Amino acid sequence: MTGWIAVAGLGPGDDALVTPEVTAALDQATDVIGYIPYVARVAPRPGLVLHPSDNRVELDRARHALDLAAAGRRVVIVSSGDPGVFAMASALFEALEAAGADPDIRILPGITAMLAAAARAGAPLGHDFCAINLSDNLKPFALVEHRLRHAARGDFAMAFYNPRSRSRPEGFARVLEILREECEPGRLLIFARAVSTPDEALQIVTLADAHPAMADMRTVVLVGNSATRRVGRWVYTPRSAGVA
Ligand code: SAH
Repeated sequence: MTGWIAVAGLGPGDDALVTPEVTAALDQATDVIGYIPYVARVAPRPGLVLHPSDNRVELDRARHALDLAAAGRRVVIVSSGDPGVFAMASALFEALEAAGADPDIRILPGITAMLAAAARAGAPLGHDFCAINLSDNLKPFALVEHRLRHAARGDFAMAFYNPRSRSRPEGFARVLEILREECEPGRLLIFARAVSTPDEALQIVTLADAHPAMADMRTVVLVGNSATRRVGRWVYTPRSAGVA
């Protein structure tokens, strides 16, 4: 049997947001690898081996997948959202570089948290935007600050992933401070928590009213650009800027 690896995005939570392509790969898999809560979203069945693992072992997971595929297994590595957004796809290629192997690999996209959150709010990412991972696990916090400041000066709308954890609650307070230095107090922020799950909660506030406790690790934070505005209960960013 020829082995393969699919790195699949499970979307933000709701099964209706899993693509048919991902469902088909899971149906054909012999093995599913991933962080415990994501593997828990895959229904067990005879012939399918589930390999849940703790967080922060991305490279071990990727090597494991390469070994299993070399032995002829059909492996799906699961991520939440999209596997290319702060997730397992890059880890697999990093392991591949080190291993020098050439297995059959597919990356199957999913709906990433910022897009699911933006859709709930309206169209806050309707003009140029960027995504920043606020976690300092894999980069120094000084780099987060640098990118954040430049994105704000470039008047990008922004999406923040991994905004706040128990181990570094002060990081997100610093992020709000920097935004207050660079943006006007009326700038709109959206705190979107657990989008498309039963725990979903959306808060739309101005920068002046934003508070660090509004974010946790299940929250993606969207920041509008200087033109982002409300219409009724919606928030949107106009598609044009600086055009007469
Ligand atoms: N690959 C994932 C992101 C993994 S990083 C994706 O594309 O969405 C984990 C971070 O994603 C969380 O800290 C949170 O900021 C965000 N996130 C993931 N699922 C979410 C959801 N359902 N609602 C809000 N934010 C979510």
